[in-house]
Amino acid sequence: MFEKVLIANRGEVALRIHRACREMGIRTVAVHSEADANAMHVRLADEAVCIGPAKSADSYLNKPAIITAAHITGADAIHPGFGFLSENADFAEMVEKHGIAFIGPTSAQMRLMGDKITARIAAIDAGLPVTPGSPALDSLEDALSWAEKIGYPVIIKAKDGGGGKGMKIAFNENELSEAYTMARAEAKAAFTSDVVYMEKYLQNPRHIEMQILADKYGNVVHLGERDCSIQRNNQKVIEECPSPALNDAERKKIGEIVRKAIEKIGYTSAGTLEFLYENGQFYFMEMNTRLQVEHPITEAITGIDLVREQIRIASGAALGYTQDDIIFNGHAIECRINAEDPETFAPCPGKIVEWHAPGGLGVRVDSEIYSGYTIPPYYDSMIAKLIIHGKTRNSALMRLRRALEECIIMGVKTTIPLHQEIISQAEYIDGQYNIHWLEKFMENNKK
Ligand code: ADP
Repeated sequence: MFEKVLIANRGEVALRIHRACREMGIRTVAVHSEADANAMHVRLADEAVCIGPAKSADSYLNKPAIITAAHITGADAIHPGFGFLSENADFAEMVEKHGIAFIGPTSAQMRLMGDKITARIAAIDAGLPVTPGSPALDSLEDALSWAEKIGYPVIIKAKDGGGGKGMKIAFNENELSEAYTMARAEAKAAFTSDVVYMEKYLQNPRHIEMQILADKYGNVVHLGERDCSIQRNNQKVIEECPSPALNDAERKKIGEIVRKAIEKIGYTSAGTLEFLYENGQFYFMEMNTRLQVEHPITEAITGIDLVREQIRIASGAALGYTQDDIIFNGHAIECRINAEDPETFAPCPGKIVEWHAPGGLGVRVDSEIYSGYTIPPYYDSMIAKLIIHGKTRNSALMRLRRALEECIIMGVKTTIPLHQEIISQAEYIDGQYNIHWLEKFMENNKK
C-alpha cells in the first residue's frame, strides 16, 4: 500500500481524498496556489506545497510543479480528484514515467476512453448501445452529409468536450453551418483541439450514468446508476440514485451490459459511463475516467468508499467481492451548493461570515468552507455538496427539505433557495423530469 499520496486538487474533493487516505493510514500532501494558502485542504494535510500563483494554468494545471512537489515530499502516488488534470492522459503518463503511481486508470486507457470519438468506437465494439453519430467531422460538407444520414435534429460535440462546453444543436440544414462553426470555435477556446463530431440529438431524455469499479485482474462490478437529469446549461445540479425512471429488471440488464463491456475494454479503476435514456432505451454518450462529483450518492446506497477503492486498485489490490455482494440500500440525493446568485447564476465569491452545516441521521456534507473563509474568485463556484440518504425516496426528500432549511451560509449568495424550490415542485416529487425540466421550470418562473 502507498505510504504518502499527493492530492493534485483543491476544495471539497481534496478533503474527500485526504479523508480516505487518513482512514487507510496513508499520509497526505496538499498542493495549493498562492490564493489557497488558507484553504482547508492545506490545513488538514500532513504536508503542503505551494505550486504557483492563483491562476489554475499556473498552479493546479502546472504538471511539472506538481510532479516536483511529489518528488520533494517523497509521495509515492498522486490522486487527481476531478476537474483540473484528472482526465489529462499526458499528465497520467508523465506521472507513470516518473515512477509515481497515478490513482486512476492507465494513461492508455484514459486516451482511449477520454476521447469521445475513440470511446464511442470502443463502446460499440464492447456491445454498448450508443447514440447514432459520426466520426470526427472534416468539413461542413462532411457535417451536412452525416446529418442527412443520422436525421435532424443533431448535436455537434467537441472530441475533448467537458463541462457542457462546445455543444451546439441544429434542427435543420440552415442551422447546421452556424452550429458547426460555433462548436469548433468554442472547442478550440476551451480544449485547444477544435475536432468535433455529431450525434443524434435526443429531445426528451434523462441523463442516467452507471458507476463501475474494475481491478487489475479483470474483476468488474457495477454499483448501479445515478440519475443526473436536473441540469442547467448541461451541468448537473441535483443527482439521485436509484433513478425514479428505472425498474429492477432494467437496472440489472444495463448493469450487466456495462459490466461485460468494461471487462472487454480492459479498463481499471473507478469509472462512469454516461447514457441518455429515452423511451426505455439507453444511449451511451461518454465515459468519465475519474471520480465524479456525485459519487457520494452511490457510496450512500452501497456502503462502498469509492476513493478507498480507487487507491486500493491503483496499489494492485484485488476488488475482493463480486457483483452478487453489492447490495443497494435505500435512496440518496445530492444537491450541489454553489456560491452563486440563485437567479442569475453569477458567481458570488467573498467572505463566509457564518457557516452552519446541517447534520443528523442520513446527512453528509462534503465542503471545504469554514466561518471566516474567503472564497477566492479564481475557481469553480461549488462550495458544498449536501448528500442525503433515506430508506425510501420519500424519506430522503423529507430529510433533504429539513437539511436545506438547517443549512446556514452567511456572507455570500448560494443556490440553496433554488434547491428548495426544485424539490418542492410536484414533477420533481413524482420523479417526472428530464434534462430540460429545470431550464423550462426556470423560464416559466422568471420574475
Ligand atoms: P460534457 O462532457 O461536456 O459534460 P456530455 O457528453 O456528458 O458533455 O453531455 C452533457 C449533457 O449534454 C448531457 O447530460 C445532456 O444533457 C446533453 N447532451 C449531450 N449529448 C446529447 C444528445 N445526443 N442529445 C441530447 N442531449 C445531449
